[in-house]
Amino acid sequence: MRAILTYHSIDESGSPISVSREAFRAHVRWLASGAVRVLPLADLITADDAHDAVAITFDDGFLNFFHDAAPALLEASLPATVFVVPEHVGGSNDWGGQSVPGIPTLSLMDWKRLGELARAGVSLGAHTRRHRDLSQVRGAALEDEVAGCVERMAAELGHRPTTFAYPYGAVDALSATVVRDVFALACTTELRAVRRDDDRALLPRLDMFYFRERGQLEAWGSAAFRSRLWLRAQGRRVRRLVQGRGPRVTGRVAGGHAA
Ligand SMILES: [Zn+2]
Repeated sequence: MRAILTYHSIDESGSPISVSREAFRAHVRWLASGAVRVLPLADLITADDAHDAVAITFDDGFLNFFHDAAPALLEASLPATVFVVPEHVGGSNDWGGQSVPGIPTLSLMDWKRLGELARAGVSLGAHTRRHRDLSQVRGAALEDEVAGCVERMAAELGHRPTTFAYPYGAVDALSATVVRDVFALACTTELRAVRRDDDRALLPRLDMFYFRERGQLEAWGSAAFRSRLWLRAQGRRVRRLVQGRGPRVTGRVAGGHAA
């Protein structure tokens, strides 16, 4: 089984975007144990299915990544990708200028820290310019959120990102086409393992919020792990239908929260 793991913030709030420091440390111990291969995102997608493998991703670029996640990942030589929101770098996750109930408003890394991470080997991907729901923007605004994001990151960091994550996991046919033209890989929030025939512009991920309790990630590959994954995916699907929002990914099933 191959899967892309999603984290957002390492903090103690218990919010849907949060994994505690202790839970993250336990994940790192397991990831560094050799139980599965941990590959850079691009390598995971081209790897065969003969070996279990994961790629580690962090959305939004929280400052706590710099202090609480990067040191542990780098010490264990675990590759990771951070998806950055250029117009909020050095600011906070108050997307649209307002906070969301249940989601903590937290500081994001500045360009200096992002540059340090890139030099240390952390991969930086794009997460739109302003953390916009791409299914809701069209024309020049859509172009600006996707291609404009690359240009801003290249200007600040001297390096063009080749990977992308959709804010809120929100994507439709048009935005997927625009993203596919610009990036080698793009990640949704569809909760499942990677399949050989997956569209590289619509890659699924496993949100580690659902695997934050002790032993849940470590059960990787077991029947219990697979049934837990299936149940979580069903639960998210049902909640979306109840909330009248429907699947986020056109023609596929996906979920997502305010991140
Ligand atoms: Zn996000």
